[in-house]
Amino acid sequence: MIKIKKGHTPAPLLALQNVEGASYDDLRGSDKDEVKSALLENQGYICAYCMKPINENTMGIEHFKSQSTDPHLDLDFNNMLAVCRDQNEHCDVYRSRQLDADGKQKNFVYLPNPKSLEFARLKFNYARASFEITCSNDDNVTQELEKSENLPPRNGLLNLNCKTLTDLRRSAWSAVQRRLERRSPARLWRETPAAIRLAEDIYREYQPSGKNKAFYPVVLLNLERHFPQLK
Ligand SMILES: [Zn+2]
Repeated sequence: MIKIKKGHTPAPLLALQNVEGASYDDLRGSDKDEVKSALLENQGYICAYCMKPINENTMGIEHFKSQSTDPHLDLDFNNMLAVCRDQNEHCDVYRSRQLDADGKQKNFVYLPNPKSLEFARLKFNYARASFEITCSNDDNVTQELEKSENLPPRNGLLNLNCKTLTDLRRSAWSAVQRRLERRSPARLWRETPAAIRLAEDIYREYQPSGKNKAFYPVVLLNLERHFPQLK
């Protein structure tokens, strides 16, 4: 997961906010596309939850505080995230199926909005072998990112450690690993100037930009593990 820096509320949303009785369902067509583009730009074209690449066609607009529990936030740009929608195994579609006893979509109790300062204090880790995500300074957040089965009823809303996602994280790192291995075997990376130079280049290449690389925090973290001087 990544911290999101929100831009200004797009004009079509501002307009709807001023219409009495208007709701999210009134956001349609090119107006909705404008909101989608703004969300994608804020997030560097990756899913707010799993960090897969997304675009206008593969994304959905997710309400961080669910529309069923917090309808007053359904036109609030700060409550909207661009998320992947091509898989029902994780992220938006998975969360939409996690309902409370009243049939309302569950909200996060511990995970703060990715745009908040509170979120910025969280540290996310990706395990070396399993590539599972954990929040290393808040176990409750880790539980909310995982699967809900066998967990207390309010936990587990995103299934971010499903095999599909851990495999994708592993592939993102493997691609970088192969580039480095062309310079030297992994055990010699730290003492091979050519490998160190390439690691520095890749570290720059994977920094967040207008268009973020898929799973870039996983790659940055693993580079730092092998080349601690990059930190
Ligand atoms: Zn996702």
